[in-house]
Amino acid sequence: MKDTKKEKNAFDEELADDSFSLKGKTDKVVPIKLTGNSRFKFRCHKDVRCFTACCSNINIVLPPYDLLRLRKRLGMTTEDFINTHCTIEILAKTLLPVITLKMRDDEKKSCPFLTPEGCTVYEDRPNICRYYPVGMATLRKKDAEGGKDEFYFMTKEDHCKGFEEDKAWTIGEWRKDQEADLYDDINRGWMEILIKKKTFGDREFPEIKNQMFFMASTNTDYLREFVFGSSFLETYDIPQERIEKVRTDDTELLKLGYEWLRSVMFAEQTLKFKDGVLAARKEQADAVMRKVYGNKEKGQIGEID
Ligand code: SF4
Ligand code: SF4
Repeated sequence: MKDTKKEKNAFDEELADDSFSLKGKTDKVVPIKLTGNSRFKFRCHKDVRCFTACCSNINIVLPPYDLLRLRKRLGMTTEDFINTHCTIEILAKTLLPVITLKMRDDEKKSCPFLTPEGCTVYEDRPNICRYYPVGMATLRKKDAEGGKDEFYFMTKEDHCKGFEEDKAWTIGEWRKDQEADLYDDINRGWMEILIKKKTFGDREFPEIKNQMFFMASTNTDYLREFVFGSSFLETYDIPQERIEKVRTDDTELLKLGYEWLRSVMFAEQTLKFKDGVLAARKEQADAVMRKVYGNKEKGQIGEID
């Protein structure tokens, strides 16, 4: 017989690490890993008894595309949106700064976009709201295919009456219907950065790397300025066609931003350097070393006064 209590604890631990993919409470998670073909019955609509019951007292982390969609919906700059609606938090287990949606200061701690008529940003609601009551987790596992374990799970909260409705879905159909697949596609590179950073454990990165991560994760205006206004395009070999897309398309810009982050945060070869860039950098580094060491053997640096 399966020890479901043990299984549940292990599941909760995994999800607590990954709680940005969970709108409900971890103790309401059904401890069964689901796939895109798993079936469930559910429907949420305006006449359901619990309408909007799931929109209060929740922790909503906003990945880059979620933030972009919301701030554009509201016609706000990134700075105004963050200052008005968000809190900056350090995500446990990754120690990276992320944006979370600030709940209202009312009794229920309700979402700022909630009204008695429902969600006022529905078409641009965060991915976590699209998925609910389904959750999605991507965990790094050495022995799993591609080094990661991706699965879905169900949250069954007592207040949610959508399970009493007679509409059947596979999780794949649900994701498509809710456009969660589109959000996943655009945010995937960012999620992979978080998963990779987790493997560094408690090791903090230099502040400059955290700032780069925060800038590329939150501010498409700065990111575009950085790509086109710095030496970025002289450093990296980006095909002209891609450069033109990045100039006007925010989702292409975000994807380029993730590749750049992987390059600068983890020294991954996600972007190709232009010819001569590495040689010039090596020459610069050698010049610094010559200045420090002079003609001494490297082990003698402590003798320089
Ligand atoms: S964004 Fe909309 S769907 Fe999501 S919690 Fe807020 S009101 Fe509910
Ligand atoms: S609690 Fe469930 S059924 Fe009720 S509004 Fe939220 S998602 Fe829909």
